[in-house]
Amino acid sequence: MSAADNWTPSSWRSKPAAQDVVYPDRAKLDKVLTKLRTLPPLVTPSEIERLRHQLAQVQRNEAFLLHAGDCAESFDACTHENISNKIGLILSFSLILIWGARLPIVRIGRIAGQYAKPRSSATEIIGDREVLSFRGDNVNGLDPNDRTPDPERLLSAYFHSTTTLNYIRALLTSGFASLHHPRDWSLSHVRSPALRAEFERVTEGLSDALDFTRTIGVGRQTASYEEGGPRGALGEVDFYTSHEGLMLEVEEAMTRAFPVPSSFASLATPLVTPAHSRAASPSGTGAGAKAPRVHYNTSAHFIWIGDRTRQLDGAHVEYFRGIRNPIGVKVGPSMKSEELVRLLDVVNADREDGKVTLITRYGAGKVEQFLGDHIDAVKKSGHPVTWICDPMHGNTLTSSSGLKTRNFGTIISEITSCLRVHAEHGSRLGGVSLEFTGELSDDGFSVTECLGGSMELSEEQLGLRYQSFCDPRLNFEQSLDVAFLVSNHLKQ
Ligand code: PEP
Ligand code: MN
Repeated sequence: MSAADNWTPSSWRSKPAAQDVVYPDRAKLDKVLTKLRTLPPLVTPSEIERLRHQLAQVQRNEAFLLHAGDCAESFDACTHENISNKIGLILSFSLILIWGARLPIVRIGRIAGQYAKPRSSATEIIGDREVLSFRGDNVNGLDPNDRTPDPERLLSAYFHSTTTLNYIRALLTSGFASLHHPRDWSLSHVRSPALRAEFERVTEGLSDALDFTRTIGVGRQTASYEEGGPRGALGEVDFYTSHEGLMLEVEEAMTRAFPVPSSFASLATPLVTPAHSRAASPSGTGAGAKAPRVHYNTSAHFIWIGDRTRQLDGAHVEYFRGIRNPIGVKVGPSMKSEELVRLLDVVNADREDGKVTLITRYGAGKVEQFLGDHIDAVKKSGHPVTWICDPMHGNTLTSSSGLKTRNFGTIISEITSCLRVHAEHGSRLGGVSLEFTGELSDDGFSVTECLGGSMELSEEQLGLRYQSFCDPRLNFEQSLDVAFLVSNHLKQ
């Protein structure tokens, strides 16, 4: 079955949707969705195609993927400082990786739309009351008195996403990513002199290398396939956005039919758009009136299916199989090898390169048990995939004080086990998926949510600056520690 068969942006509605949100006011929801359908795309087909192309490079081991950001964004955290600190951290991390891997890094942020959260339980007990669980800022409020799902929050999420993305675009087209100014990336609060010195050594080395390349007249390697000149997607470096594709009503409303931009058309499998779709073609997409159209999710460049919503006969898999965007699939210990291959048959029926990234998240102690079999089964099936390691979600624990945390050592252990098992099975780790934050507390210190790292954060210190309202994130210093460790591994 090809991706276009019997698929429409709303065909998921006939299947059971796990983690469904029940809105008491359906009419209000419909009004919001109608409005969302008319609002402009956040990202363009050219940018999405460009990412697919770069993910195909990752798949061929010609680049390495960094997928990172918050577990969940919040509307209140949509500030100048938080956005620039997060982008600065992603850029710093990727420079350290470039240094070790000697490969281009594809950067995808969990940003500009990562609001909705799956929950293991629909309700929770707070005090002596049972209330609906918090499902993310685009659904309900963290305040236990504000847990009724409100459709207006979906509109607010759209506008917070556009504001975030607008600021990212502005930063990246204004020299923020320039290697000549990496100090703009807020390294000033990194207290460890050793970590700062190590980072400065990397940036100075890369800066010299770049100057040398310019002097001898070698252009940007990426310029050959991009549209519109020698810039990356979103500015002077490539940067892409992503979120978990959980709220299918919104994903559907942001799904639009466009022709594949002419410069990428030769790479695309022609999929004829069903007759019901009559979306106008935006200028700049290279549209000919008769060109075949495909469906793009225009709310982000990349979206992923969570570990709780990947049922083969479920609504999420149905929605994901028809969109042209590159997608991620979370793979946890409950995934059977045969189920994984069947899932790939559905979401990538045409076996396109750069389409599927498998994001493994077993838990450090379970990599050995599951990853090898998964690699072997996918290899045998012939499906093209990129494997990346999420060392966060299988390693969450509750500290003695009751705070949700993760241990730096365990995170590193999951990454190193993945690197080893891939090598043993003739495969390669193509990237990492992390929850980290450059966010600072009001008094200018890094957050204290994960244990360990070079700053040796202890259980007693966890409560000092714990700001996450969702999963615990690595702070700036701990993230650089991870970057150096991964970078050194890639060097070998
Ligand atoms: C997440 O990435 O925040 C998440 C909930 O992951 P998973 O679906 O792997 O549990
Ligand atoms: Mn998370």
